[in-house]
Amino acid sequence: MNVLVWNEYRHEKQNETVAKIYPEGIHGAIQSFLQTDDIEVSTATLDEPNHGITDERLKETDVLVWWGHQAHDEVSDDIVEKIHQHVLQGMGLIILHSGHFSKIFKKLMGTTCDLKWREADDKERMWVVDPSHPIAEGIGQYIEIEKEEMYGEHFDIPAPDELVFVSWFEGGEVFRSGCTYQRGHGRIFYFRPGHETYPTYYHEDVQRVIQNAVRWVSPVDRTYSTYGNAKPLEKIEPKE
Ligand code: ZN
Repeated sequence: MNVLVWNEYRHEKQNETVAKIYPEGIHGAIQSFLQTDDIEVSTATLDEPNHGITDERLKETDVLVWWGHQAHDEVSDDIVEKIHQHVLQGMGLIILHSGHFSKIFKKLMGTTCDLKWREADDKERMWVVDPSHPIAEGIGQYIEIEKEEMYGEHFDIPAPDELVFVSWFEGGEVFRSGCTYQRGHGRIFYFRPGHETYPTYYHEDVQRVIQNAVRWVSPVDRTYSTYGNAKPLEKIEPKE
């Protein structure tokens, strides 16, 4: 399986706190816990030519993982269109944290994807609300994150196909933190945690969820339906 981890990779270059937490970038941290014997993980970042994304690369990609925040508008519409096409054809997509405002997520959802937020070191308790879902495998009743950015409802998304996690925050808000969607042949998973100034992607349960999600969104097969004008399979008798 081929996984491509895409990261905006700006906070790490501009903010010392973030650089200290993620010296290899958020993409580097995610790459290191996703890589296994049967999963090949590569990375791409915004400031590479074509943001590191080409049609050829997407063709070889089973699952695209996306982290973006301050530069969503700098992602070219042309690349977003390519990713959209590949998702519809079966490529899995995992949108992390502030990727809720990415062009690709908004295009796939068709809503504003807006939410409430606060950076105040809230404790987050993320409850598993679908314990038999493969994405929650190996997770207990909840995941506790000592400090995180708060995201609160209302989250302006279409009703998820499946809701896997709901977060509670110390300040009182709740949030749909793990949402699955199918668009065309592609499976999508939105996963909330991962603000850049916290070491969230080193949390073992958070890693486990993303590992599970990679397997869950990966394409089942790539045989596509045929569309358009169709020849009959049987002889159609002439009718009077
Ligand atoms: Zn954030």
